[in-house]
Amino acid sequence: MAIVDPTGNFTYRQLLRDVQTLRYRLSPDGMDLNEARVAFLCPNGYEYVVAQWAIWAAGGIAVPLSTLHPVQELQYFLEDAQATVLLFHPDHAATVEALPANLQARLQLMDVQQSIALASTTAAVPRDLHLSGHRRALIIYTSGTTGKPKGVVSSHCGVQNQVDCLVQAWQWSSHDRIHHALPLHHVHGVINALNCGLASGATVEFASRFRAEDVWRRWIDGPQDLTLFMGVPAMYAKLAQAYDRMPKATQVQASKACRQFRLMVSGSSALPSPLYHRWRDISGHTLLERYGMTETGMVLSNPALDASQRREGSVGYPLPGVQVCLMDDQGQTILPKPDQPGELLVKGGNLFREYWSRPEATRKAFTADGWFKTGDSACQATNGSWRILGRNSQDILKSGGYKISALDIERELLAHPLIRDVAVVGAPDQVLGQQVAAVVQVLPEHCSTVTSLSLEAWCQPRLARYQTPRRFKILTTDIPRNAMGKVSKKAMVEHFFM
Ligand code: ATP
Ligand code: MG
Repeated sequence: MAIVDPTGNFTYRQLLRDVQTLRYRLSPDGMDLNEARVAFLCPNGYEYVVAQWAIWAAGGIAVPLSTLHPVQELQYFLEDAQATVLLFHPDHAATVEALPANLQARLQLMDVQQSIALASTTAAVPRDLHLSGHRRALIIYTSGTTGKPKGVVSSHCGVQNQVDCLVQAWQWSSHDRIHHALPLHHVHGVINALNCGLASGATVEFASRFRAEDVWRRWIDGPQDLTLFMGVPAMYAKLAQAYDRMPKATQVQASKACRQFRLMVSGSSALPSPLYHRWRDISGHTLLERYGMTETGMVLSNPALDASQRREGSVGYPLPGVQVCLMDDQGQTILPKPDQPGELLVKGGNLFREYWSRPEATRKAFTADGWFKTGDSACQATNGSWRILGRNSQDILKSGGYKISALDIERELLAHPLIRDVAVVGAPDQVLGQQVAAVVQVLPEHCSTVTSLSLEAWCQPRLARYQTPRRFKILTTDIPRNAMGKVSKKAMVEHFFM
């Protein structure tokens, strides 16, 4: 089986047939779409997969859109990518109708389900396109954590390299069955979870959307045939909270159900240590943390085979075919020395081609000798494994001459038993440049016991004085996070500390 979704089971044979059908609906004369941007708006499920492959088979560039985005966001992506066709799932027809009329007029709108169903009436003219691997295949928009999302263009080769290195490193095979509950408009969901599965002949079982209770229900009550799960830390946190709400007997079943998996992966943002340990207690699994970006695909990963070799707080080692090094503040590439931080640089066949319609941004993203500048600060331990210290632009705070990793401080605050979530930011300060500040979400029943003073006391034995937040904003509501569970720290600073 290729795909299982809430509507049914679909074999690889059926997938191939429907891909061919849709391909000829996209290009009735069988001609090459010549890198036309074809956007598609489908929920997690079969039609998404058919759309993606049909666009590739017809020679178009696939632009996946998120069903979670409001109309204005979709408009931004469609206009930025200069899409000429929009494939949509009928469940989202109302969203398509809500797009501005002038935009609709510029788009060829096609209902994916209807197009597949009309197969028998379409006289398909088989014609094989010879697509070079260097042609553009995919535009995925970055998560927009630090600004407007940028369209990241990958070639067919780039996508293939991203898939190949993970299939090899994480030992994907046709025996795998992944429970897929990630959004399908970012590399985590599109490349790591979906396309690695399809490239291996595995089964991809979609949850229509992530809800912790539903995920647990499937694991406990469904056939015990799942082998892989991938999530962002916020998903594991929600699963752990749902577990805590279960009656004892169900908890026992839940922990037992986790034995069906051979591997559970976390990424897209830093995995907090308390969650790493909590998840091990609940599931018996040591989460495999990995690091990557839309522009690079996956770069660093803990080992898949030997869980005892995975290190808490570490994202592991370079994946096959990927090279990394560091750059110092003067812009010089340096050989990493143990625990010496620098900006992480990446080379390899997995890299993107360009930012869509942003030649200047593309040029600035590379060093003169072709390294991609991730904008993330990292350091290597003596054993060769890598640690991500955070984004230079928002997680590396510069306070009174110190360079401080917000992630290190978040780790210590998250170890506090009454704190549920935290975002450490740099608030502007006339003397220090930036002042360490923390937005802290506490469990509502404890909101009166947790105060700025008690939090400072918690930090005192754990952090240096210069790392200890000078200001706290204590919330009982969720800290706002985007679809990938990431916090826009710029917005946090503006909202709470200006
Ligand atoms: P934008 O580029 O629009 O600001 P974004 O960088 O969040 O958004 P993505 O490409 O989806 O968009 O995310 C890549 C970033 O996610 C990395 O640069 C890094 O900062 C962060 N990241 C990914 N995995 C990890 C990890 N395991 N630990 C820490 N950070 C991670
Ligand atoms: Mg980015």
